[in-house]
Amino acid sequence: MKLVNLKDEQQVVSFVEAVKIGLGRNQGVFFPPSFERIADIDALLALPFAERSARVLHHLIGDELPQDTLDDMVKRAFNFPAKLVEVADNQYCLELFHGPTLAFKDFGGRFMAECISMFNQGERVTILTATSGDTGAAVAHAFYEKENVDVVILYPHGKISLAQQKLFTTLGKNIHCYAVDGSFDDCQAMVKSAFLDDEVKQKLGLNSANSINISRLVAQVCYYFEALAQLPKSQRDKVHVSVPSGNFGNVCAAMIAAAIGLPIAKLSATTNQNDTVPRYVTSGEWQPNDTLESLSNAMDVSKPNNWPRVEIMLERGDFNKHDFYSRSVSEARTQTVMQELHDKGYLAEPHTAIAYEGLALDSQADETGIFLATAHPAKFKESVEDVLNHKLDMPKPLADALKKTCLAESLSADYNALKTAILAKLN
Ligand SMILES: *Cc1c(COP(=O)(O)O)cnc(C)c1O
Repeated sequence: MKLVNLKDEQQVVSFVEAVKIGLGRNQGVFFPPSFERIADIDALLALPFAERSARVLHHLIGDELPQDTLDDMVKRAFNFPAKLVEVADNQYCLELFHGPTLAFKDFGGRFMAECISMFNQGERVTILTATSGDTGAAVAHAFYEKENVDVVILYPHGKISLAQQKLFTTLGKNIHCYAVDGSFDDCQAMVKSAFLDDEVKQKLGLNSANSINISRLVAQVCYYFEALAQLPKSQRDKVHVSVPSGNFGNVCAAMIAAAIGLPIAKLSATTNQNDTVPRYVTSGEWQPNDTLESLSNAMDVSKPNNWPRVEIMLERGDFNKHDFYSRSVSEARTQTVMQELHDKGYLAEPHTAIAYEGLALDSQADETGIFLATAHPAKFKESVEDVLNHKLDMPKPLADALKKTCLAESLSADYNALKTAILAKLN
């Protein structure tokens, strides 16, 4: 797989290199210069999930990883299903929360862990990542107790749900957590600074687990194929997919799926009140505001890292600009939609409700709509119970984590503070 730095086209790397480096020079993200379409999509859709996913990954990654190696990696990484649930006529929910940390981040996090273990054999590596809530848990669980790997997680203090936080801050051992006095964008900026710091990079063998990392994105492409595989054939013609978007990694994966031939006719990237992209799509002006705290906190991002990847796909015509929609959903509307879905018999947390609203805003009668459920409702117990006035049962992994003590240390939103802390701890 050939990948080019979108901010410095002189930097061209392989998949293995891109996974190990994470972020390129000038903080540029890596992306393929073009995509090849898969010839027989129907035959591919007829295969079982793991087998099909390994083929999709092989198509994207190429000969750097042999097919049988990918088969094994996928079997270990995707050891839980993606479920398509019919919510109404021609409306489906793709439930991506059946993994160990109950959010879609398990797909990317677990495949990335497979990649890092394979590529860094023996070498020491430190995974540094910022989380808006769910990446932290997915990455922490995927790398927990792995030899030669330390994980450092930054999260915005007080801005993620208790269940999200406890799923990673209570693990200890090789998982080191910092509660940053700032926003997710501050955390993300601190991670980017660390990658520009050669001293830290070399001493710690730094890598990132953010959706900057291409291994996470390619893994996520697979469940879009799984969604269409579960649709009745007669409904695969005009598929409209709505993705609740924060850092825009997930919708980028959907677009890659379309670019290699999966028939996604229309894509909606729906945000909460942090609406940098919806405003940009309308006005052409990139003007991030301060990040606002929302019910859908995993999407509290105002400078989405993956937007350059989505934008270049739209510019190159990998996906038709006119079939791409990006709208913002208010806090009030999010709550109303959660209620409406509940009345229809579907229990959704705020991110999922936003995806559902994204479908409604731009759908047409002849389409088949698929909205993504990116997290289990229990992960947002407080807001779900509050909005719906409905008591939730806690799945066991969450109930267990909630009983444990948070081991995170606090940190100011300042790169030097981070540098001092991690060099002292890990060097
Ligand atoms: C991370 C996350 C999102 C946003 O996904 P992006 O790839 O960052 O756009 C949406 N919902 C949930 C529950 C998440 O954890």
